[in-house]
Amino acid sequence: MSVAENKVTLGFEAEVKQLLHLMIHSLYSNKEIFLRELISNASDAADKLRFNALSNESLYEGDSQLKIRVDFDKENRTITIEDNGIGMNRDEVRENIGTIARSGTRHFFESLTGDETKDSQLIGQFGVGFYSSFIVADRVTLETREAGGDPEEGVRWESKGEGEFTLETIQKLDRGTKITLHLREGEDEFLENWKLRTIIRKFSDHISIPIEMKKENYGEDKDEKPVEYETVNSASALWTKSKDEISEEQYTEFFKHVSHDLKEPLARVHSRVEGNNEYTLLLYIPSHAPFDLWDRDPKHGVKLYVRKVFITDDADKLMPRYLRFIRGVIDSDSLPLNISRELLQENKLLEKIRSGAVKKLLGLFEDLANNEPEKFKSFWKEFGQVLKEGIIDDYKNKDRIAKLLRFSSTETDTQEVGLDDYIGRMKEGQDKIYYITADSLSAAKNSPHLEIFRKKGVEVLLLGDRIDSWLTDHLSDYEGKHLQSIARGDLDLGKLEEEKEKEEINSVGKDFEEVIGKIKQALDGKVSDVRISHRLTESPACLVSEAYGMSRTMERILKEAGQNFPSSKPVFEINPNHPLIGKLKNEADETRFADLTLILFDQAVLSEGGQIDDPAAFVHKLNSLLQQFMA
Ligand code: ADP
Repeated sequence: MSVAENKVTLGFEAEVKQLLHLMIHSLYSNKEIFLRELISNASDAADKLRFNALSNESLYEGDSQLKIRVDFDKENRTITIEDNGIGMNRDEVRENIGTIARSGTRHFFESLTGDETKDSQLIGQFGVGFYSSFIVADRVTLETREAGGDPEEGVRWESKGEGEFTLETIQKLDRGTKITLHLREGEDEFLENWKLRTIIRKFSDHISIPIEMKKENYGEDKDEKPVEYETVNSASALWTKSKDEISEEQYTEFFKHVSHDLKEPLARVHSRVEGNNEYTLLLYIPSHAPFDLWDRDPKHGVKLYVRKVFITDDADKLMPRYLRFIRGVIDSDSLPLNISRELLQENKLLEKIRSGAVKKLLGLFEDLANNEPEKFKSFWKEFGQVLKEGIIDDYKNKDRIAKLLRFSSTETDTQEVGLDDYIGRMKEGQDKIYYITADSLSAAKNSPHLEIFRKKGVEVLLLGDRIDSWLTDHLSDYEGKHLQSIARGDLDLGKLEEEKEKEEINSVGKDFEEVIGKIKQALDGKVSDVRISHRLTESPACLVSEAYGMSRTMERILKEAGQNFPSSKPVFEINPNHPLIGKLKNEADETRFADLTLILFDQAVLSEGGQIDDPAAFVHKLNSLLQQFMA
């Protein structure tokens, strides 16, 4: 095939164009990051080759000294970044560079607002990778050949970043990838040896393979001497150093490398575990939730190394799902190097590493909760909802996770009440932790079930997140105290209620026996029981679920999700002190009695955020009663 024949011009995906445009404009003040992103990719390519070569030595093609080279050419105004890593074949180039396949990208585009200032903030959370080259370059050439591939089957990709790229087959003798940036007008500051070295040391010192540049004074007498390169970075895996050898900046830059996140991390834990299962972990909490936090299969954020050799970032056994937002590395000394990714899933040692890592992370969260309340607050805001899944998924650590939970309550709208705080504020005679679940915080807050608790000044946790119904199903006790839904079962306030009050309710109960019987008839089929309420002070009636079985919130969530099952029937509770109930008691007209009862029932459904069966009939009945009232 002639060169002209094999060259094709292809269009970027529409989203790439949008991304390029946004990136060039919003990252302009931070343009030196292009070098970090390209070096980061080169280092990943070296990691991948090293892993594949474990089972196929020949991929090294006789050269196992992995390295990255950064060069510049003042005359032609170019910078090149070259690696001898895994490389790419033609299909891979087309797929990787020109489309955006990374998970989370869709969410990224969904969250764009069109407002450049806001969107610039977002791109800072995203990690821009290869495309960051176009911040400083108006033409980028990438030449690559896969390790173990045919030298005649190299690929050249080239683009001006304006919507199109070309692909052609070239001869490339060395495996790996070489990227040439043709600098934009005015970017000549990067054509200096010291400038590039400074950027590399600042952003990429932690890269574990050597990053080489020509010797400093090379150039003046280049005709006389052969070209000599020297290593610019410290070229050792950052996590293997001891803590006091690592600066804050190095920790931060390493986070940005492993997470593809341009923002600073919130907190980290770096620790070495000794014994017969030795490993080192360096794990970070990001400062914001990643875009794919709610994906069913998000990309895993923790990379597994075995004795500094990258193995995989796809071991879902490495972190439980509820810690899927954690980023970093775990490096094991004890796992066999030639372990296959499949076998890894079954490995007992890995299980132990995982449970050790989870403990370290819980320790980190506890440390924030106890010593850095502001950081803990933002941790909870970003990841609290996900951490709650741990109560359901991680039985062994349930108590520790429960201690970290934060809720809204009748004392505060923000999720900041821990179960320990709650217990510390319990009233004398109170022996339960009271909560209510609803579809939202405001629905919980306005629930009639709260009336008696407000009157008695007893705090109630307000649970309005979707996951809360599951959470409370799995957390029935904390520190010996029962968690009690205030919308479930016969309310027993225990010592919070005085004997006198109990007697009062029992005695009015007798007065209401007859009307209760009539209400049961009027609501035939809709309720499992009708009784006098202890909970209400202002509302005429409310619905309560049976002591056991599903909560009404949970039923609604499952039905919304399309699950079909017979509804459980609620208990209808009436407030004997409410004038409308008094009126009902004395109502002789049967139709009016039935209408008023149905209205009270539907109102109770509405007040817990539910949907009534027949809204038109409800409105009709209500209007006819209003008309009688006006007459
Ligand atoms: P990311 O690195 O976040 O996946 P990039 O846009 O930077 O996103 O790169 C896209 C993909 O292109 C990478 O995932 C990798 O598969 C491939 N790639 C980029 N640079 C190189 C390189 N130097 N060597 C081999 N593959 C590369």
